[in-house]
Amino acid sequence: MANDKLALASWIEEAEKRSLPLCEILIEKNCKSLGLERTELIKNMKDMLDVMESSIQYGLTGIKSRSGLTGGNALKLREALSESARPSILGLNISDAVIFSLAVGEANAAMGRIVAAPTAGASGVLPGALFSLKKNYGLSGEQLAEGLVVAGSIGLVIASRSSISGAIGGCQAECGSAAAMAAGAAVSLLGGTPVQVGNAVAMTIKNMLGLVCDPVAGLVEVPCIKRNAGAVVQAMAAAEMALAGIESFIPPDEAIDAMKEVGDRLPCALKETADGGLAATPTALAWAEAYFSNVKQTKGETK
Ligand code: SF4
Repeated sequence: MANDKLALASWIEEAEKRSLPLCEILIEKNCKSLGLERTELIKNMKDMLDVMESSIQYGLTGIKSRSGLTGGNALKLREALSESARPSILGLNISDAVIFSLAVGEANAAMGRIVAAPTAGASGVLPGALFSLKKNYGLSGEQLAEGLVVAGSIGLVIASRSSISGAIGGCQAECGSAAAMAAGAAVSLLGGTPVQVGNAVAMTIKNMLGLVCDPVAGLVEVPCIKRNAGAVVQAMAAAEMALAGIESFIPPDEAIDAMKEVGDRLPCALKETADGGLAATPTALAWAEAYFSNVKQTKGETK
């Protein structure tokens, strides 16, 4: 399945023709290309889900990153919402998705084990969506594993037509791709049609188009972790719209192609070089200078 120019449209068309859910078509194709039985594929997916769940738990211990720049916010939000006298602005499902996304991002920044989905920087979005849906919709591990196949297949299409790397396509290619994967999986998990899965992917990419990659001091912490939280909300909004029958005027493969075109036009300063955007703000530059001189000093002392 790792050929050039995969197309979501052809899988959707095949699923419609055969009157099968999109996930069944994708399970079949993945099994064939990987030479696996269905049970083996699902087991592999469950193993990855176990890692995702552990990274959520690790993040929720309130850990801090090595640099000291980030950490503790997933726990802070969970505690604030459980103690708050006011109802959550986001509601249970989305606030859980945000908490879980922050938790995985913080686990990643603290060098914890995560599943790159599709990258480490964007690793919070998919577990945020999947485990929030599992908790709030009572989905089984088997169902979640099937959703992960859908998400991974969407990621394959994006990788073949555009990019999943911030250094190549900006953060639209990392958090945007992760959100598109999560949106498609969510629609599939909640019983949407193959066409609705495609609409969720297209709407998510459209809403995240142009997002730049600008990590402070080149560390995958600021803005990455909170951007994962924002991306999961975009994913859920697109999934909700798609499940209601709202269509994307631009088809998913064309939206992905537009992401590539936008990524190609982005200047290098906005593609993970930490030369522009938030990384070039006075606050970011001052923090980076203090951080790197501290690192140099510590290295000198330990020589
Ligand atoms: S800002 Fe850059 S490093 Fe951070 S998540 Fe986005 S693409 Fe990855």
